[in-house]
Amino acid sequence: MIIDGMADRPINELGNKTPLEFAKTPNMNELARKGINGIMDPIKPGIRPGSDTAHISILGYDPYTVYTGRGPFEAAGVGLDVHAGDIAFRCNFSTVSDEGIITDRRAGRIRDGTDKISQSINSIKLNGFEDINIIFKESTGHRAVLVLRGEGLSDKVSAADPKHDGKPPKKVKPLDNTKSAAKTAEILNKLVEESYNLLKEHPINLERIKNGENPANIILPRGAGAVPDVPPFNEKYGLKSACIAETGLIKGIGKLTGMDLIDVEGATGGIDTNLPNITESIIDTAQSDYDFILINIDGADEAGHDGNLDEKVKFIEKVDEVIGKIKELNNLYFILTADHSTPISVMDHTGDPVPIIISGPEVRVDDVEIFSERSAAHGGLCRIRGSDIMNILTDLMNKSEKFGA
Ligand code: ZN
Ligand code: ZN
Repeated sequence: MIIDGMADRPINELGNKTPLEFAKTPNMNELARKGINGIMDPIKPGIRPGSDTAHISILGYDPYTVYTGRGPFEAAGVGLDVHAGDIAFRCNFSTVSDEGIITDRRAGRIRDGTDKISQSINSIKLNGFEDINIIFKESTGHRAVLVLRGEGLSDKVSAADPKHDGKPPKKVKPLDNTKSAAKTAEILNKLVEESYNLLKEHPINLERIKNGENPANIILPRGAGAVPDVPPFNEKYGLKSACIAETGLIKGIGKLTGMDLIDVEGATGGIDTNLPNITESIIDTAQSDYDFILINIDGADEAGHDGNLDEKVKFIEKVDEVIGKIKELNNLYFILTADHSTPISVMDHTGDPVPIIISGPEVRVDDVEIFSERSAAHGGLCRIRGSDIMNILTDLMNKSEKFGA
């Protein structure tokens, strides 16, 4: 169970306590007393992880080879069946003027009708590139994903998104001297242009213009990544696995590693998320025939990015209640940790290590009594890396292979 961005640094106004130290967390503390504690560097000491690279590392994959960019994980996260070698992008639906200037990168924060617009984009066949499959799907709001499938493609291309309003779309450029990068850049430039031709008079957009809303009349790809060849988690460890996550990014990691995605109604990834539904989903999944569940709860990270101390403390306390309800599940190993620190003072991820508890049958219980960044450092696990977790877990489960005779 990964509480996204939960760890923090000491904060003056909390008497130099961290939000986790300050929050009332009786259930986490009970877990700490029953388990073995430590601190963990999700990737390596001092490396500032993304949520994606941290999760990849914690699941025992090397993020330096598996992580090619955010695109593939976002694409898998919206439910697209991506294949190794596909090139995936994150996209915005945006508004462009007749003069070719981006006037709203988020197309009036469009919510409805993006599925119909996506269908139209999926029908595009580009002149001279008829062999390339264009697979496009809307995500939440103005976000979408694009997958290019075919021979001779590359992810070494720049973005079309200019990142600021008031500029024309950027011309996509190859980032190396290969033919495949040149070809992919050409395809993207054509596709961006074609999306405008196709969408400027799309019924959804005519309706939006009539209502005084910005039309979603162009797509702007960015964040290219080649879909990696990832050995399935289930085969790697011999564990039937499920993923309960809120954000497309973490769902994408679950999907690309071959886990079953468990959808939870009302899971928003924010501090307003439906924690009772998440709790119920965890209990149901744990009681079915899965051997391993990856759980990610995102709200503490959001509060950290917003620099909202109050909300971060409150959200940690709410997560503690979730743990209070699932701690009665018997005969399982429960790992509680974070994927990185998102300190209130920094409002972004930092490379500080995070606390971790492993509880379950036959663990060597230590003397740690509360769950926090500082007290966990006195525990029996000492300081480990994210990439150690699956080894430690499968060893405890007596499911790891012996190295040597
Ligand atoms: Zn994270
Ligand atoms: Zn974050």
